[in-house]
Formats: sequence, C-alpha cells, structure tokens
Amino acid sequence: MIDFRSDTVTKPTEKMRQAMANAEVGDDVYGDDPSVNRLESMAAERFGFDSALFTSSGTQANLLALMSHCERGDEYICGQQAHNYKFEGGGAAVLGSIQPQPLTNQDDGSILLSDIEAAIKPADFHFANTKLISLENTIGGKVLPMQYLAKAQELAFNRRLRIHLDGARVANAAVAQQCDISEITQYFDSVSICLSKGLCAPVGSLLLGDELLIRKARRWRKMLGGAMRQAGILAAAAHIALDEQVERLSCDHDNAKYLADQLNQLDEFEVDLAQVQTNMLFAAVSDKLDIGVVAAALQQQGILISAGKTLRLVTHADISRSDIDVFIKALKALL
Ligand SMILES: *Cc1c(COP(=O)(O)O)cnc(C)c1O
Repeated sequence: MIDFRSDTVTKPTEKMRQAMANAEVGDDVYGDDPSVNRLESMAAERFGFDSALFTSSGTQANLLALMSHCERGDEYICGQQAHNYKFEGGGAAVLGSIQPQPLTNQDDGSILLSDIEAAIKPADFHFANTKLISLENTIGGKVLPMQYLAKAQELAFNRRLRIHLDGARVANAAVAQQCDISEITQYFDSVSICLSKGLCAPVGSLLLGDELLIRKARRWRKMLGGAMRQAGILAAAAHIALDEQVERLSCDHDNAKYLADQLNQLDEFEVDLAQVQTNMLFAAVSDKLDIGVVAAALQQQGILISAGKTLRLVTHADISRSDIDVFIKALKALL
C-alpha cells in the first residue's frame, strides 16, 4: 500500500520494535516506569520546560493543556482551522466547560494579532474569562514565522494570558526552518508534540509545561482514564522517535515539493507551491474530474488518497520518491 492519507499511518521502525521488546518497564501510575521517566525528563530538558507528560494521543495532550490552563467558564482563543477546535470532538467544551473563541486563520496559517487583541474579553461578568491563546505549528503543513511567535508571546504576556502551542508537527516546522525544536517552543507556556505522526512511533504524544501545569495535567489524565501502567513499552519507541526520526523529515518535505511539481504538470490539479513548506500539500481539483472515482480506482492498485474537492496529500517515512512516481503514473493512466 502507498498511503498518502496522513503521516499517522507510519509504522514503527525495526529499531523501535526492538526497543519495545526490550524496554525496562514499571507501573507508571506509581511513577515507577523507568522508560517513561527517561522519556519525560529527556523531552522536558531538550525542549526547555520544567516537566513533560507522556499521553496516549495528541488530542489528549491538547485537552489536558486546555483543562490545566483554563477552568469552567474560561475561554481560549484559537484559529477556526485549529485542530483543538475543529477536530477534537469539542472536548474542551464537553469535558472542560471551556469556551473556544475561534478566529480566522490567514493564508499563512497565522491569526492576526489585532484579531486576537479584539477578541480578548473585558473583565465583566457578561463574558467568559479569556485565559489562553492557542496556536498551531505547523498548521495545514505551513510554518508560522518565528517573528510572529515572538510577537504572539509578547501579546500574551502584556494581556496576562497564557499561550499554548499545538505542536503536533512542530518537528516538521523546526526541520523546515533548519532550527532546533526548542527555538520554537521557547515562545510558549505549554506545547503538545505528536510522536506517532512523521516521527513513526506507534502511539503517544507529549505535553510540556511548568511543574504546576504538568501536575494538573497528570491529574486530569488520570480522571480521563489516560494513566497507563507499563507504558514504557510505548515510551521506548517514542524516545527513538525523538532521537532518530527528526532529521529524516527533510526527505518528506523534499518529496512533498516533488509531488506538488508533478501534480502541477497535470491540467486537472493545481498546487500553490508557496504553501508546500513541509510534508503536506493541498491540490485544487478540476470540477471536470470526479475525484471519488479516481480514488476508488487508485485503491484497486494499492494507492490510498482521501478524496475531496481539495485533495490533501501527506508524505512520510513509508512513502519513497519511487512510490510518488508510481502514484503519478497511475494517476496519468486514469486521467
Ligand atoms: C494529529 C493532530 C492532533 C491530534 O493527535 P492524535 O494523536 O491524532 O490525537 C492534534 N493537533 C494537530 C495539529 C494534529 O495534526
């Protein structure tokens, strides 16, 4: 199978499977799992935070962050396209009684700082209490400019808000900018990072923050049923993801550009190359083409895409340059 639907489909590497088989484990609810403890302390140090928490998913890491920064009746400001607004089942509202205040994402993925300023509620009992700004990087495969992050942090500081990063793909952002992940995370009070996407771990995300925030998050994680026992088996693979899979992401980024170029040579597709910054591309599909039919035919040949009016394709460790050639060839034959 050549699977362009998402980087979540990546399988654990051979080295991860070995590490999982041999992982030293204990009961993590007692704080006894050495592999989890090693992962959390390594990540906290590497990304410049007091503490880290290993979670079962990115959705859980974001929810824990929102519930630890905000209380019932508080509000977080985020993008209309934010994963933690649009794609997480409304968890903050359902489980945290926290109101989202979504704002328009600009073409580059940012939210105008003037929009954020205007959305901060005055201290008046008519309003929810604005507590938090939540950004996402990368967002739709796009990298938020470093200068923007610095200004957003300053705004949060001046307005006495906290600032969270949904950094599910922050490693992609760092590789695209040829910087260390910590150069991005330094602007935030908390960060969530997915290890199970482009970094190939089978399961798991991390939440980073100060000691108090992570203590609260640990409590919410327990309440949500997310405290795991011999989780070191998963942490062992996650550790390798951070140690060994980050630099490789540049291949995925090169492959996404290559794929975009190939698609642009076909009349039926149009990709804005300026938007192809990491491992994701969005192609406008001609009205004349029934992409659902194309997707079904490709599937017969072992190629998976998510059919849509805008076609989202994601490159990752389990897609090679020659897989892309196979895909383009199959596509041309179908057209
Ligand atoms: C995938 C993703 C998440 C959630 O991660 P899961 O592990 O799938 O729950 C959160 N934010 C962004 C931006 C993502 O892409």
